[in-house]
Amino acid sequence: MMEQELQYITEQQTPYARLSLAVDRVLYDTQSEFQHIQVAESRQFGRLLVLDGVFQTSLAEEWVYHEMITHVPLTLHPNPKRVLVIGGGDGGSVREVLRHPSVERVDMVEIDGEVVRVAKEYFPQIAAALLAEPERLHVKIGDGIAHVKATRDEYDVIIVDCSDPIGPGEGLFTREFYQAAATALKADGILVQQTESPFMHQKLVHGVFAAFRSVFPITRLYLASIPIYPSGLHCFTLGSKQYDPLRQPPREGIPGDMHYYNSAVARAAFALPEFVKDVLRNRPE
Ligand code: SAM
Repeated sequence: MMEQELQYITEQQTPYARLSLAVDRVLYDTQSEFQHIQVAESRQFGRLLVLDGVFQTSLAEEWVYHEMITHVPLTLHPNPKRVLVIGGGDGGSVREVLRHPSVERVDMVEIDGEVVRVAKEYFPQIAAALLAEPERLHVKIGDGIAHVKATRDEYDVIIVDCSDPIGPGEGLFTREFYQAAATALKADGILVQQTESPFMHQKLVHGVFAAFRSVFPITRLYLASIPIYPSGLHCFTLGSKQYDPLRQPPREGIPGDMHYYNSAVARAAFALPEFVKDVLRNRPE
């Protein structure tokens, strides 16, 4: 029998590059107060979350991003107790944060409650912590920027698990926000933000790194391979008031099985290719 005509869902990654994924069906498709939310069954990566046409996460590879955005800062800090996740409405980041026994409380501030509801319904594996509602987890539906601005000397680690710098996420990519986050952090706190692709978003990567450096005494970039993101090479910017990942090894012993993270990967992630060092040094044209 002829292969049925495949339908595709396409992300316009840049004006000149797209990624299309064959989908068997679209399970959910609605405009929330903040963004267009879609859930689709993709052939290549399984169930897929799409926000405003941007591929966010999928069951086949979500663990790369969620393990790397959380365990790298949480194993750099010697004893993280208070953690803030901004965004992260699918629940993957807080699921990973809660693996750390030292964490006494994690606040998740997500602006769009519909993303949380959709995650619980369609992605129970990723939203496991949201469904379990452990006492250590506190979910707040609101703007992460306002939350940070109203907070001082509160958190050991802040993780900005945001969407792209469009719509509600735009204000999360500003020096003003990083300054407010630094104030919300304790004296030895760490801020990490997902910072797009060093191949496809070089001006943004350069600008965010420069803004972090104007706020934090230690600023580092680290990399991970994320297949549904532009170019597959993704970076994270880490700002630290005291601990330097280039000078101290990550703490060992996170409970549970990992699919991507380990301490060797965590250390190697900070080894940057020459072109990435150039992007950080010189503002791209
Ligand atoms: N965790 C996924 C991944 O693996 O990349 C994607 C990130 S998560 C879905 C991005 C979230 O950031 C969205 O749910 C979006 O609603 C949220 N967000 C965007 N701007 C925000 C803001 N200013 N405050 C709080 N949440 C925000």
